[in-house]
Amino acid sequence: MELDSRIPDGPLDEKWEKSRFDMKLVNPANRRKFTVIVVGSGLAGASAAATLGELGYDVHCFCFQDSPRRAHSVAAQGGINAAKNYQNDGDSVQRLFYDTIKGGDFRSREANVYRLSQISSSIIDQCVAQGVPFAREYGGLLDNRSFGGAQVSRTFYARGQTGQQLLLGAYGALSRQIGAGNVRMHTRTEMLDIVLVDGKARGIITRHLVSGRIARWSAEAVVLATGGYGNIFYLSTNAVGCNVTATYRAYKKGALFANPCFTQIHPTCIPVAGEYQSKLTLMSESLRNDGRIWVPKAGGDTRVPVDIPEEERDYYLERKYPAFGNLSPRDISSRAAKEVCDEGRGVGSLGRGVYLDFKDAIERLGRNTIAARYGNLFDMYQKITGENPYETPMRIYPASHYTMGGLWVDYRLMSTIEGLFVIGEANFSDHGANRLGASALMQGLADGYFIISDSIGDYLGSRRLDKVSIDLPEFADAEAEVRADVQKLLDVDGTRSVDSFHKELGQIMWENCGMARNQEGLTKALGQIADVRDRFWRDVRVTGANEEFNVALERAGRVADFLEFAEVLCYDALDRDESCGAHFREEHQTPDGEAERNDADYTYVAAWEYAGVGVKPQLTKENLEFENVELATRSYK
Ligand SMILES: Cc1cc2nc3c(=O)[nH]c(=O)nc-3n(C[C@H](O)[C@H](O)[C@H](O)COP(=O)(O)OP(=O)(O)OC[C@H]3O[C@@H](n4cnc5c(N)ncnc54)[C@H](O)[C@@H]3O)c2cc1C
Repeated sequence: MELDSRIPDGPLDEKWEKSRFDMKLVNPANRRKFTVIVVGSGLAGASAAATLGELGYDVHCFCFQDSPRRAHSVAAQGGINAAKNYQNDGDSVQRLFYDTIKGGDFRSREANVYRLSQISSSIIDQCVAQGVPFAREYGGLLDNRSFGGAQVSRTFYARGQTGQQLLLGAYGALSRQIGAGNVRMHTRTEMLDIVLVDGKARGIITRHLVSGRIARWSAEAVVLATGGYGNIFYLSTNAVGCNVTATYRAYKKGALFANPCFTQIHPTCIPVAGEYQSKLTLMSESLRNDGRIWVPKAGGDTRVPVDIPEEERDYYLERKYPAFGNLSPRDISSRAAKEVCDEGRGVGSLGRGVYLDFKDAIERLGRNTIAARYGNLFDMYQKITGENPYETPMRIYPASHYTMGGLWVDYRLMSTIEGLFVIGEANFSDHGANRLGASALMQGLADGYFIISDSIGDYLGSRRLDKVSIDLPEFADAEAEVRADVQKLLDVDGTRSVDSFHKELGQIMWENCGMARNQEGLTKALGQIADVRDRFWRDVRVTGANEEFNVALERAGRVADFLEFAEVLCYDALDRDESCGAHFREEHQTPDGEAERNDADYTYVAAWEYAGVGVKPQLTKENLEFENVELATRSYK
């Protein structure tokens, strides 16, 4: 397959304006004639549905939660980046662009990242206008803090609840459109397939999660805003419901999946405490502004932290990366934590933890200032661990957190299926091999509030799309497939729970395709995944029926998709025989353990095409051109 990224010609800083001018518009009076389906109402989906509704399109928006307010976006804690340079500390669109390209280890498209940086300021204006209560300084200006991989303070925040506040803003805008009749919201409704007519995305098939009703929906364009697949590792910081089903099923229908192996492990999560844990909790990266990370210098040191004197502590990030210190990017900080724990210097009962210590910050700034900045995070930590982080350091360890990979999209966010657009964490677009903190919210809202409206307008305005009936055979066939899949899950009638298979898959992925990967482990994982999948289909037990609220059935479908998608991820990790960003192939590291990129052979986006269950997918490469930045060795020293 040929991939056309449709990056406009011309200077980097003029590409987006040029592209917008070149795009067709739809006359306001004609917009209501077009139906657009938006699947997902997290930050990306809610902002897109609200914006398209405001423009006058006939929008149907779907989510599987009982309210858009419960989308996983609500969990985002730390903040959202924007190049406003309020701090006058040297920030600019160019610097945000460069930090993001470098942070992604030079594996993302220049044009996309530059556009993101340009739009970033408008997002803040939009959200302030909606009433999002960003933190303010004494004088009234919006406050900023620093995040990893940057030496400027450009992160806008609302205590440790930035995602929630942004989502309330987007939900308000969405609700206005629901009230105006432009958006019809379908909660507790899960998309289980997309429908193609003449090769174009023309609808979806859904299952209502309470009644089990399976339904057909037609439209002129479909937007997927269905989030990331970090839960493939079972234990992750993601909401338990996050899954790959929508994007994976679109992949099975012909949408290419890009860079699936680029999965982010976040360095500051509360460590795993035992065998029966099903969820991990993030401690926001913002804490690294003031917290210092350390482990005892000696292995096997079981003293409580207060008894370990300064000279016996190793502030390893400050030691190894003096320029960025505790604000080194996530991939680098995660690997450094793993390294000290592998050396036997980890803390906590399982030895997989490092300290995040606020003692110095409290002495310098006072407890009240620290409480004002991070109070809710400290409370959350104390509730979960029973330890008071004002008095003793937090214990943290890396965990699966975010997925840079996603469905391949061109510059206009359209997938390889015509009329199927993908936004937010569900696409692969802007973060390369490693996302910098506070950049996911920025991207989701750039896509939803500012980019998708132009792209959809151009798509609908530049071709003739007759209405299609849901009685077409394409809809009937897709519905029949969905019904058969659901029934197949119910028919197995085995002995093991859905979760037990998910956990088994997660362990395979974490051990072989997690923070460190190698050829032997990945090859072994491919065999193990096929084996788990085989046993799943012989022995899974899904209780209850389709025609009722059935969480086991819901999860079974998602785990079945993870069990297929996991192979795509491993094939991608095998193909990328280099280390870059979060993808650390142990065969490729410098003598001091840093990732060793191979620009000569791997400066491409790997886009995978479905070839059948258990069959190696077909690889198509999109070569990345760097005309404005030099491909440098990434250093935070
Ligand atoms: C704990 C945590 C903290 C974070 N903090 C930050 C931060 O401070 N700053 C930052 O920039 N990023 C942060 N992130 C990342 C960021 O929160 C996410 O990347 C972002 O919110 C994803 O938004 P989204 O709209 O793409 O997807 P989501 O918010 O995951 O929304 C997905 C939507 O799709 C729907 N959906 C999914 N599948 C289907 C289906 N099959 N059918 C119907 N509906 C479906 C869901 O119901 C939901 O509405 C954090 C992530 C985590 C885990």
